[in-house]
Amino acid sequence: MITPLTIVTPASEREAFEAYQGGAGSAAYYAGGTELLLLMKQGVAQHDVLIDLKGIVSLSGISRAGADRVRVGSCVKHREIERSPLLGDLLPLLPTVERHVANVRVRNAGTLGGNLCFAEPHSDMTLVTLLLDGEIGVFDGKATRTIPAGEFFVGAYETAMQPGDLLCHVDFPVPRAGTVFGYQQFRLHERPSCVVGVVLQPTKDGKGCRRAAVGEGAAGLAPRRSPAAEALLENVSWEEAAGRAAEVGRVLAEEAEPLEDLTGSEEYKRHLIDVLAQRAISETLGRREANNA
Ligand SMILES: Cc1cc2nc3c(=O)[nH]c(=O)nc-3n(C[C@H](O)[C@H](O)[C@H](O)COP(=O)(O)OP(=O)(O)OC[C@H]3O[C@@H](n4cnc5c(N)ncnc54)[C@H](O)[C@@H]3O)c2cc1C
Repeated sequence: MITPLTIVTPASEREAFEAYQGGAGSAAYYAGGTELLLLMKQGVAQHDVLIDLKGIVSLSGISRAGADRVRVGSCVKHREIERSPLLGDLLPLLPTVERHVANVRVRNAGTLGGNLCFAEPHSDMTLVTLLLDGEIGVFDGKATRTIPAGEFFVGAYETAMQPGDLLCHVDFPVPRAGTVFGYQQFRLHERPSCVVGVVLQPTKDGKGCRRAAVGEGAAGLAPRRSPAAEALLENVSWEEAAGRAAEVGRVLAEEAEPLEDLTGSEEYKRHLIDVLAQRAISETLGRREANNA
């Protein structure tokens, strides 16, 4: 049961930060509340002050940030990402994956910022943000600093943010035209127990792959990219990339640190990562062929 508490509705990032500092260690930010309120109902977390971020205009919206970036505000809901024509055009991996996040009720309330801050190990959006080289804007009361996604996800429920830090937005670099992706999930419950994603950027002449992002999540404590698996797919023709799928799967599975739990043993999860990686590569290359047809 949730005990009586005060809800504060700041109008700016600074007001939110000050409300947090004024909460004497018992305040928490909340956006959709889909994670936080559950924890409070279960008695796992208790807060006397909740700071509702949804009224802060600067935390909302999806827009271009200069010529080569798209900015997604921290309070943007999953459903808005799923339906955004701008993201559908420039970063289709985001809306494609969002369609499979949770259920419509959670997607209508839960936000990207809440998902990344909570860093639940079975999150899809943490891996997607990592694969897309997201740059996370965090306000610390004085200034907004940028944390690359590669440094943001530290462990289960653990990020590089300090207490009181406010996640403001995520900037995603727009990938080169012709970039293709694949994303594979395995789930037994509401949240996935294993996910693998692949993003391949073409060379200038379009005949091969110049840059690759390959990673897995949900099986261990935090999402991970694999530079070794990525190297196998970089600066090769599309045919060579297809021929290396099995090796990529093996490398990704070997490097992973899956945890045994109710959804499977460590060995089983390594097998899943291997299979999903091969499927994700074939999905990626299939998209390229469909685009070129
Ligand atoms: C049934 C269910 C199924 C789900 N399935 C999936 C799934 O398949 N894939 C997936 O990726 N996710 C899944 N999720 C997770 C879901 O995406 C998150 O619950 C949601 O995005 C959290 O956002 P929120 O706005 O509700 O966060 P809140 O609950 O409001 O906040 C979560 C945490 O983040 C902090 N916080 C929130 N916003 C900020 C901010 N701007 N700055 C600093 N701290 C902040 C809060 O203090 C709190 O600690 C599922 C959740 C549920 C309940």
